[in-house]
Amino acid sequence: MNRPGNPVRRFRLTKIVATLGPASSSPEMIRALFDAGVDVFRLNFSHGTHEDHAQRLATIRALEAELDHPIAVMADLQGPKLRVGTFAKGPIELKVGQRFRLDLSTTPGDSSRVGMPHPEIFAALKPETDLLLDDGKVRLRVVDCSPDHADTVVVSGTRLSDRKGVNVPGVVLPLSPLTRKDREDLVFALDQGVDWVALSFVQRPEDVAEARKLIAGRAALLSKLEKPQAVSHLDEIIELSDGVMVARGDLGVELPAEDVPTIQKRIVRESRRAGKPVIVATQMLESMVGAPAPTRAEASDVATAVYDGADAVMLSAETAAGSYPVEAVSIMDRIARRVEHDPLYRTIMDAQHPDPQQTSADAITAAARQVAHTIQAAAIVTYTTSGSTTLRAARERPEVPILCLTSNIETARRLQLAYGVHSVHSADVNDFNEMVQKAARAAHEDGIAVEGQRLVITAGVPFGTPGNTNILRIAWVEAE
Ligand code: PGA
Ligand code: MN
Repeated sequence: MNRPGNPVRRFRLTKIVATLGPASSSPEMIRALFDAGVDVFRLNFSHGTHEDHAQRLATIRALEAELDHPIAVMADLQGPKLRVGTFAKGPIELKVGQRFRLDLSTTPGDSSRVGMPHPEIFAALKPETDLLLDDGKVRLRVVDCSPDHADTVVVSGTRLSDRKGVNVPGVVLPLSPLTRKDREDLVFALDQGVDWVALSFVQRPEDVAEARKLIAGRAALLSKLEKPQAVSHLDEIIELSDGVMVARGDLGVELPAEDVPTIQKRIVRESRRAGKPVIVATQMLESMVGAPAPTRAEASDVATAVYDGADAVMLSAETAAGSYPVEAVSIMDRIARRVEHDPLYRTIMDAQHPDPQQTSADAITAAARQVAHTIQAAAIVTYTTSGSTTLRAARERPEVPILCLTSNIETARRLQLAYGVHSVHSADVNDFNEMVQKAARAAHEDGIAVEGQRLVITAGVPFGTPGNTNILRIAWVEAE
């Protein structure tokens, strides 16, 4: 049976990640966001209580059961976000050229000093180091420092208020990417059963390795690239991660804004080459926090990420705290669809096609893309356990959806982040007939293919042995 209205079928290959927050926690709103096109829900552990996140996750899982369709959930850990303390009499005014002290004291600040409760940072500062506060609105230059304070001069900025963020660009800080809070949040998120864990402020490949050990395979690991140090170890970090995010918010504070577009393109290209999902994030439709329509520049920014070949585009405050969460998802969906229908988009995807590795999985998935194109198939079907073959198929950036059939629900959920993948959770097959029938039924039920269309199926024989994709079969979707 074709499901009425095919509520789970997407008409685009680029995915949408949406952050949940106060504006988007009710079951009705989460359902509306899914219907508008959300593929991955992000729980942002920089805000909200464990109870808030548990409730949102339970709502998503209930929706998943109702729709009988796997949905991915990402827990985004806050990471070592540095902040100043509070001020005794509210926001302070600063004058360019004035002195301003940062110290370890917990006494509320004034216009001459404020606390910054991070002793590791004072140890790493040197005269001439710049500190950026409040997303770069205030720049302080260190004149003199000691283990418990730093005297600075205000280079730019005129106002500072409680608990504003502090970035120290260009300095590798002696910080683990997992604070005590992150470790607690991680245990909680894994117990709740999230599919992806996003790691903030990754600086070194070792940071990723450390987190990997703690996660121990219970979720996929996504590294947020928001520090210049991480960008300079890009290959190793991608290699050690299951996916990455171009986290343009902090990246654009740590680096000049003009550096962000080229870095975005480089990260997307390298991730695709490695066959790892990549998300372009932050400020994509920022003005929609308060307005029902995006600016032309924002529409163009979403389109650029799609043209770059990103697996996914992300919404943050737009869906978490904005007044128009559903509208933001809808416009993102429409922009992605429009770009994907542009012949130029296909030309770009094909021109940037990475070479297959000398493995049977790559040989088969590369062939599957070509066969699907030649016979105008409705979809490529991958039978997978770990999801690795499906990711190799996504790396091909085929022009049709990749129907991912897996008996592993975790794989099914995780892969919803990947380019073009439509996951279906189903039992393993035992023979060729079953393989064809199951694929055809799943494609038909979810509105991926109609009767008379063809599918290009990849699988491994003998059936049920992971990691041995070795066959490609063309099958028709027949009337049942
Ligand atoms: P954040 O990460 O929203 O958690 O800060 C994304 C970014 O910095 O762009
Ligand atoms: Mn960030």
